[in-house]
Amino acid sequence: MKRVKVVATGGTIASKRDPRTGGAVPTLTGKDMIEALPGIEGFAEVDTEQFSNVPSQALTLQQVLELGKRCKELFQRGEADGAVITMGTNTMAEFAYLLDLTVDVPNPIVITGAMRNPSMIAPEGPRNLFDAIVTAASEEARGKGVLVCMNGDLLFPRDVVKAHTVAVNTFQDWEFGPLGAVRNNRVIFYRLPTLKEKLPVERITARVDLITAVGGDDGKLLDASISSGADGIVLASMGPGHVTPMMTWAIKKAIDKGIPVVLVSHSYGGNLLENGYGFEGGDIHLRQMGCISGGSLQGLKARIKLILAISQTRDIGKIRSMFQNV
Ligand code: ASP
Repeated sequence: MKRVKVVATGGTIASKRDPRTGGAVPTLTGKDMIEALPGIEGFAEVDTEQFSNVPSQALTLQQVLELGKRCKELFQRGEADGAVITMGTNTMAEFAYLLDLTVDVPNPIVITGAMRNPSMIAPEGPRNLFDAIVTAASEEARGKGVLVCMNGDLLFPRDVVKAHTVAVNTFQDWEFGPLGAVRNNRVIFYRLPTLKEKLPVERITARVDLITAVGGDDGKLLDASISSGADGIVLASMGPGHVTPMMTWAIKKAIDKGIPVVLVSHSYGGNLLENGYGFEGGDIHLRQMGCISGGSLQGLKARIKLILAISQTRDIGKIRSMFQNV
């Protein structure tokens, strides 16, 4: 029987309504959550470890890095064959990607959480946790890197987004769909995550701002980011990689200062154009100015990748090459 370690960090899956405030707060431990899963012993030998008990937005990127290191250590010491991380959903898509980029092990690491807390009618946390454990114990999930397991779907950290504020099917991969699914306690993969890469770092040493280019943008927000010391900027542009002509001065300022500017789109899917439009602030102009293409990465993911890239090196040429296959 495979051994699965559930590393609990908090989030809605662990939250109960506090009668004093009327709001849900992380209260349940990993052990409490496992006790609510009758029959799980038929799929894995499960053990738990409490990393934290906080909402996911209270975790720092450095803590998430440590979380990944802890999982790796569990595997290296032979204490587990697979790991499940329970966490809040607000930052799950970002943190899953950070973990996938930094932890290089064949053992499955499956991230799960819940949208409905255990004080509500029909909380889905126990089902998600059951599915995640079954996945972490499966041969099918070995070598697939980090997976997000929510609502019966197995999703690719690079592309998964939290698409809805409260719906249980909030985690979506708009363009390509889930990698696989857990159906009747069986793990099935329909496609393979081929765009896998690793950017391991010891410490997070960069601040990267994510700025959305909006209609009428005058570039002042971008300028504020530069003057307040951002080490890198991800610019979520319009459509296939366009910004207002009124903000190109600020992009030039960043590039002249040696700050990497990664361009992505705030559309929901698709790649940036490279030779599409010839006007000021268009894709050709921005590329010629020296913006790095973030390809099809969403802004939240490009920010995580740029943080790791700058934490590895300040060499702009090397950073640019890390974004070549996006
Ligand atoms: N605030 C919560 C968190 O991200 C929301 C959730 O768990 O879904 O921790």
